[in-house]
Amino acid sequence: MATPENKLAFSGGWEYDPAPQSTDHITLNKRYGLFINGDFVPPARGRYFDTINPATEEKISRVADASSDDVDKAVKAARAAYNGAWGRMKPAERGKYIYRIARIIQERAREFSVIESLDGGKPIRESRDIDVPLAAAHFFYYAGWADKLEYAFPGRTARSLGVAGQIIPWNFPLLMASWKIAPALACGNTVVLKPAETTPLTALKLAEVVADAGLPPGVVNIITGSGVAGAALVEHPGVDKIAFTGSTNVGRMIQKTLAGTNKKYTLELGGKAANIIFADAAIDEAVEGIVNGIFFNQGHVCCAGSRLLVQESVADEVIAKLKDRMETLIVGDPLDKNTDIGAINSPMQLEKIESYLKIGREEGGEMHQSSCRLPKKGYWCRPTIFTGVSQSNRIVQDEIFGPVLAIQTFRRYDEAVMKANNTPYGLSGGVWTDKGAKIFKVTQAIRAGVIWANTFNKFDPTSPFGGYKESGVGREGGLHGLGAYVKLGA
Ligand code: NAD
Repeated sequence: MATPENKLAFSGGWEYDPAPQSTDHITLNKRYGLFINGDFVPPARGRYFDTINPATEEKISRVADASSDDVDKAVKAARAAYNGAWGRMKPAERGKYIYRIARIIQERAREFSVIESLDGGKPIRESRDIDVPLAAAHFFYYAGWADKLEYAFPGRTARSLGVAGQIIPWNFPLLMASWKIAPALACGNTVVLKPAETTPLTALKLAEVVADAGLPPGVVNIITGSGVAGAALVEHPGVDKIAFTGSTNVGRMIQKTLAGTNKKYTLELGGKAANIIFADAAIDEAVEGIVNGIFFNQGHVCCAGSRLLVQESVADEVIAKLKDRMETLIVGDPLDKNTDIGAINSPMQLEKIESYLKIGREEGGEMHQSSCRLPKKGYWCRPTIFTGVSQSNRIVQDEIFGPVLAIQTFRRYDEAVMKANNTPYGLSGGVWTDKGAKIFKVTQAIRAGVIWANTFNKFDPTSPFGGYKESGVGREGGLHGLGAYVKLGA
């Protein structure tokens, strides 16, 4: 069993020296306006808010707080671009602009990763190796489709929708922006994108990339602000399509607002995925997969493996190995290249996670946390597991969005499937077994948009992503992601 005393033994007897990522190469303004019609402009009502580094609680910059007047201005700019230069442009030319965005993101990858980690709290290793490369890959992938839509929808004509209103959360700010903007542009639409309140900076940097890539003014508009601006975008009569990624609660409100309108929509919402470990699985790999599934990005992942269903005969072994592995995870400075778990994104999110730790204990669950030291400033949560929990517990049913894993056991295959399916969500899942036939059987039986086998949290722009049940409506990514941005005719 790992303890602070023998912790050094797990790292081979050595503590890691700090390996901080340099921040010399980034430039951030003290204040950012709204990116409308190709320029940064002040918000109509002159209001700004701070964006904070969650690892230090220090202010990084100030960003504009868009009102409904600004939303109106951005939608009108997007409409004018759609009716103008962008709408008239040949698809192959459109593709060139999207390729250019992809290449500039690659060129500025170090800058993007550092800003993502500063603003959002995620470890630099993740923003550098996952968020930024995948964001560029999305633009590359959809750039290729721009002049090939007739092959994407054989025998049908695909026409663009018009202006897309896009609203994204704080857990993958640049990546979610690319999931939204790239397919919309490839299909010939123009966009108004609203990033989340706590992580606006990489979206504003993306606005700079859009300007550097020479896109006609108004094709991409980026407006920072709160849910008020998001709601104004959803309600705006000049918007033809809403693409939303965020919580199920807000998704529900948006769906109500859109009911009875002609607006097309996709909703990518919450999740409570189960990793199912059968006794015949490669246990060490499975433990690594669990760690990756829930502690990766502080558990701020919609498809996080926040539940573990482990076959009873190997449960003790898996839990012991998991506890040992948790002891070796480094929690701390997101800009340190050794860090495994960074800062919780905001004080509100930390409060929510802590309230669930209390609920879990009150429900009778047994809580275990790693013994790591936490930095004095900033928002942090130790990797946490709960055992002794049952299916009806909130810790098993609710999305927590933090590094908190609820562990249950099962004896038979059908019990595992029943438990995995028994939540309101259906976004993702994982299965770990030595038997290919079992993989096919389980993946058919689980109602979730993506299920990984003997791995977890793997993404690719060519594969569709989206949820069943309360995890959402529609798909993003791949060919399916194009369908969400076109009208199909005969
Ligand atoms: P959130 O729903 O609170 O906010 C998401 C975005 O919606 C923000 O930009 C916010 O300003 C905006 N918003 C808030 N109220 C609004 C309203 N009334 N109308 C329109 N927009 C409004 O979610 P969050 O806390 O930022 O993100 C976490 C959630 O996102 C989790 O539930 C997570 O599972 C989900 N998520 C889902 C996916 C997916 O692909 N399914 C991906 C990432 C995150």
